[in-house]
Amino acid sequence: MRVILLGPPGGGKGTQGELIEKKYGFPKISTGDLLRREVQEKTTLGEMAKAEMNQGELVNDDIVIEMIKHKIFQPDCKRGYILDGFPRNVGQARRLEEIEEKRQEIVIDIHLSEQTLIQRLSERRICSSCGAIYNLLARNPRKEGTCDFCGSKLIQREDDVPEVIKERLKVYHEQTEALIDYYSRKKVYFRIDGEGKIETISKNIYSILDREIAKSRVMEAAR
Ligand SMILES: [Zn+2]
Repeated sequence: MRVILLGPPGGGKGTQGELIEKKYGFPKISTGDLLRREVQEKTTLGEMAKAEMNQGELVNDDIVIEMIKHKIFQPDCKRGYILDGFPRNVGQARRLEEIEEKRQEIVIDIHLSEQTLIQRLSERRICSSCGAIYNLLARNPRKEGTCDFCGSKLIQREDDVPEVIKERLKVYHEQTEALIDYYSRKKVYFRIDGEGKIETISKNIYSILDREIAKSRVMEAAR
């Protein structure tokens, strides 16, 4: 099972990914984390990625694909894995399929209204020192304006203000429109209502995953 998580920034994709990982034992693969690790460990791929980032460029697909390939053939991904942050476009989606043609695929798109996202992201505060993330609505620091972990000052990111958030969401939707269309045609696309409680959202995701896993078992048995 390959679970692909889609959803706008601030929509709870990371949290849901962690919950799926816990329940099903599928490792969550975030391309951002993979990239950071390769750079830290100074692997060949990491060095290549770093050179591109230093030039202010996005890391090219070949490098990202190689990293993912390396990860998904590890034993812990045998039963399944979760992808967060990849693919971002149809070209990447196709390349992912080329690596592993037979893997069953489920795309979970966590959908929220623009209004909710603006509200959530505007309430977000970040530690100026360690990068810990807080939310004035859902996850308050113990002492106002101060990081629980390191005691540094909490700040609002410059791009967490409504005008910039709107622009980011617009870009996000433009980028993912074709991808959603692509997965819908493949009949592996499921849109989840991302408003409301975390437990309600995850319950809805689990019921889709359970149903699709059961379906694939029936199909395999029939083969
Ligand atoms: Zn901190």
